[in-house]
Amino acid sequence: MSWKCDIVTDLAPLYHDKEASEASRKLVREHLRECPECRAYYKRYRPVENLAAEMPFCENVKNFAVLAKKMRTRRLLLGVGFLSYVCATIGALVLHYMQKNR
Ligand SMILES: [Zn+2]
Repeated sequence: MSWKCDIVTDLAPLYHDKEASEASRKLVREHLRECPECRAYYKRYRPVENLAAEMPFCENVKNFAVLAKKMRTRRLLLGVGFLSYVCATIGALVLHYMQKNR
């Protein structure tokens, strides 16, 4: 497995839930077309929420599904927060240089 395979399998949950960016989705789509191992992985891929629906009697799977959903939301919020921080920093730098060059 190459480093691309690692990235594609890491992105599988986001790709599956259509939460990945357009660039990431394109990368995953192109890789799935050319890599039979990742195609097989993605065909077998089932998010933990689906497992919980298939096994409602299993309390551990249900708890894990709740935890996985919370972690996904937290990751998304962290990403948005980081992106906001980067945008604010770039904006402040641009303003600083515009005032300096007046
Ligand atoms: Zn691959």
